[in-house]
Amino acid sequence: MPELPEVETIRRTLAPLLCGATVLTALRGEHPDDILLDPWPTFARHVRGRQIITLERRGKYLAFRFSDERRLLIHLGMTGELQLSQPDSPLPRHCHIALVLRSPHPLPATVIDRRGRFVLRYRDTRRFGRIGLLTPEDWAALSQRLGPEPLDPELDAPTFWQQLVHRHTRIKAALLNQSLIAGVGNIYADEALFQAGIHPLRRCDTLTLSEAERLLSALRSVLTAAIESRGTTIRDYRDAQGRTGRYQFQLQIYGQQANTPCPRCRTPLERMRVGGRSSTACPRCQPLLCTV
Ligand SMILES: [Zn+2]
Repeated sequence: MPELPEVETIRRTLAPLLCGATVLTALRGEHPDDILLDPWPTFARHVRGRQIITLERRGKYLAFRFSDERRLLIHLGMTGELQLSQPDSPLPRHCHIALVLRSPHPLPATVIDRRGRFVLRYRDTRRFGRIGLLTPEDWAALSQRLGPEPLDPELDAPTFWQQLVHRHTRIKAALLNQSLIAGVGNIYADEALFQAGIHPLRRCDTLTLSEAERLLSALRSVLTAAIESRGTTIRDYRDAQGRTGRYQFQLQIYGQQANTPCPRCRTPLERMRVGGRSSTACPRCQPLLCTV
């Protein structure tokens, strides 16, 4: 499932192509209403003729900001993928929506035709993704519901700690809660907890300020390294040019089987479920001190 580093990689890949581009028309693929927040005719009518000013990311959401401050919001769900293609190529299977655009920028000949047009396709085999048009008020409300961005330098450790320390939930579940911290999913939560030496089952209200500080700094280092490696590809994730990420080669414990030796101390790793998600931890590097 694409998390903050994957969505940020897609944003960075697409921004140079899409900023300043105009939507000429929307193409209807398979079952667009499974993905769209608005009915297809409304969506198609509203995007036509709009110019994209910039690409934004908030948590795991990608947004194209138009000149009238409306946003085209994209959440990739589990298997959503954005792909660039030539305007004349037929839409492939599982492609739900596509936009025909014209860009003022010089683009690779593989995606653009002689008239400067290209297509951005949205494909999603499992159809958990969502696309919708948001007013500036809708966007502000969405942003308000999400927790702070972990890479925002204005987020300091005492604020992060304050958000956690009154909660009785397990720290892993709190990290996955988008209203507490935005953009973190299963992969980077496991990696950051390992790097910080904090067990996924630790209750938030037992965390000290210095542990919260360690965790915030681990989150930042893991997310930054993952963005530098263009994200993690376990199975489906590709950027908008079809390239896989490379951070899977740097993962320490995410997805490891129980009893695999810890990469740091060789103690057998343990697997558990927290908040309905599988988690991996090292009982020695991440001691579980206070569980009740
Ligand atoms: Zn260990």
